Amino acid sequence: MANHIDLLPEDILLKMVVEKVATNSFVNFFNMQATDRQFRKLSNNPDVLKKVSFEDYPKILWEPNQNILHFLKRFEVSGNPEVLFSQGLREFFDWPVGNISGLRKLKIAAESGYKPAKYVYGMIKLCYENNESRKEGIDHVRSLRVAKCMMQLRMKMHQISHYFWRYNRMLVRNRTPICNSFPTCKGWGLKRNRWVFVDDEDDDMSLCENCRWDHELNVFYGIFHIHNI
Ligand SMILES: [Zn+2]
Repeated sequence: MANHIDLLPEDILLKMVVEKVATNSFVNFFNMQATDRQFRKLSNNPDVLKKVSFEDYPKILWEPNQNILHFLKRFEVSGNPEVLFSQGLREFFDWPVGNISGLRKLKIAAESGYKPAKYVYGMIKLCYENNESRKEGIDHVRSLRVAKCMMQLRMKMHQISHYFWRYNRMLVRNRTPICNSFPTCKGWGLKRNRWVFVDDEDDDMSLCENCRWDHELNVFYGIFHIHNI
């Protein structure tokens, strides 16, 4: 019996191959489109550009020159979440003046499900004063907590933050705790100053969730050098 894949038209098969390579490695994707005219044509397809992963070559996202920024533009226009995330973060934390349009890019990347964007966009929204923004922020970070990837994302943010080390005042510390019962809540507040959260397995889901996000905000302020002003 024929394998169903044999019945697919050649152009669809080729697109599947290019997409598969793109989602695994920017380096392999780049090499492939440089070697064959058909691959090169497919490599400009927005569906393919959207799926390219830069995990194996992050330097291109975080240390771009003008030529690279121009090169990345077509990925951004195609909705590539990694490029939207890096561009959005760079614009938002640009020094001396950040750009709020960076937040729109972060939001698109977050809503596409890209985890680093969900973390940063969610935490930025938690820095806002109004409850609607904070609720939106919690909706994003809650799924990361359930997936037990908070520590991995914190480490990634530490690495990325080195590119945005100058505080540009786009964010200030929110002095209003998310937990209404702070500081008497018998949640995470009990652990403050005498317990260090270093492992996702230590993230006790039975304790007050709002206290949990007050704790994460303090971590976020530290990572991105967000001051009191
Ligand atoms: Zn609480």
